[in-house]
Amino acid sequence: MAKVTFNEELCKGCGLCTTVCPKKIVIMSNDKINSKGYHPATITEMDKCIGCAFCATICPDVVITVEK
Ligand code: SF4
Ligand code: SF4
Repeated sequence: MAKVTFNEELCKGCGLCTTVCPKKIVIMSNDKINSKGYHPATITEMDKCIGCAFCATICPDVVITVEK
């Protein structure tokens, strides 16, 4: 199973990563806020991730790491 991690402090909440996930499991977390004042991206059902790394590729701020 792939593992996706987010460096939440670097996230600027642009939401780009949520638009490219084929499994629609990347979402903006409404209940968290980072020190820059943004709601960071997070993942809901890690077991559905196929490790395509589209989310990591599109992120302009290198927040996301995908490990297979
Ligand atoms: S690696 Fe692919 S399937 Fe997994 S969260 Fe990122 S975009 Fe979605
Ligand atoms: S693309 Fe990067 S900066 Fe934008 S919401 Fe996703 S993780 Fe945050």
